[in-house]
Amino acid sequence: NISQNRPVIRQLDDSAINRIAAGEVVERPASAVKELVENAIDAGATRISIDIADGGKTLIRVSDDGCGIAPEDLPLALSRHATSKIDGSDLLNIHTFGFRGEALPSLGAVGRLNITSRVPGGEAAMIRVAGGVMDPVKPAALRAGTVVELRDLFFATPARLKFMRTDRAESQAITDTIKRLAMAEPALGFTLRDVSGGGEGRITFRADGENGDLFDALHARLGRILGREFAENALRIDATREDIRLFGYAALPTYSRGAAVAQYLFVNGRPVRDKMLTGALRAAYFDFLSRDRHPAAALFIDCEPTLVDVNVHPAKSEVRFRDPGIPRGLIVSALRHALAEAGHRASSTVAD
Ligand code: ADP
Ligand code: MG
Repeated sequence: NISQNRPVIRQLDDSAINRIAAGEVVERPASAVKELVENAIDAGATRISIDIADGGKTLIRVSDDGCGIAPEDLPLALSRHATSKIDGSDLLNIHTFGFRGEALPSLGAVGRLNITSRVPGGEAAMIRVAGGVMDPVKPAALRAGTVVELRDLFFATPARLKFMRTDRAESQAITDTIKRLAMAEPALGFTLRDVSGGGEGRITFRADGENGDLFDALHARLGRILGREFAENALRIDATREDIRLFGYAALPTYSRGAAVAQYLFVNGRPVRDKMLTGALRAAYFDFLSRDRHPAAALFIDCEPTLVDVNVHPAKSEVRFRDPGIPRGLIVSALRHALAEAGHRASSTVAD
């Protein structure tokens, strides 16, 4: 009887929806770290500390000195599609890292999440959610800012738990995520600590907020992260075409590497991985570098948010330009120009 076998359409409950969404937003511990640190940056923090244990699998704790969350807003922060960052009327005009209101509910669905926060002049409060089940808000002790603690990531989704790599590999991915965000925000201080096994732990990355103008601060931060040799061999790039600005540092061909390990690209302050942009980078160095070498660079593209769509993927490392030819052409011409000029300088010094 066909009516008995007919599939029934059901509305999924929030906990199931959040676990499904979490699969998109949180692939591994490093993606949880990225979401939490981006939230701290969006909150206007100046110092951000990240503690991890066992490659982030058992503990990720992000503490910031940002604006905090009021006690009555804590349940809202954990609700799906609730955000303080956009009002939904203009999805083409996004100036923050976050906007989907998905990260915290997703993390609370696949791990044990604890948020403690305090707004200036208010009382500290905390909320806990584990496997999608939320406890009521309680009073807490905290001087300022926000501490988000995520324990036992993926305990509620054992299938995902199986796909995690070694602690070492996950820690490495977390360090890489922090370094990219630290390049994007040279004025902010970052401390990454490994607290596996308890105790004070061990600092694995640290960068204090850099001083100076855009280029000085960026140059100092790149020196800290990519090393002094990169900083000493880096050409300053600053060019604009049709309201799109390209700036940053690109290394001399002599500093190139055998593997593409030092290519960092940012669009409107967001770390991105984009084939079109890395292709442009390769094209710019084409005449200056042999095929088996890879250029090193940290390049920032800034434009009106309406010229680029960051909405392509929930993890948001992909972007789509309205007219990709402009950023591509800009990278190729600005870098070629800088490299040619540096080449002239080098050969005229030899001639002298
Ligand atoms: P989104 O970042 O897309 O808004 P999230 O789920 O990451 O979504 O966060 C939900 C809301 O919780 C944010 O819009 C913000 O209001 C608040 N929030 C999250 N983390 C912090 C933080 N570290 N400091 C202050 N507010 C925060
Ligand atoms: Mg967020």
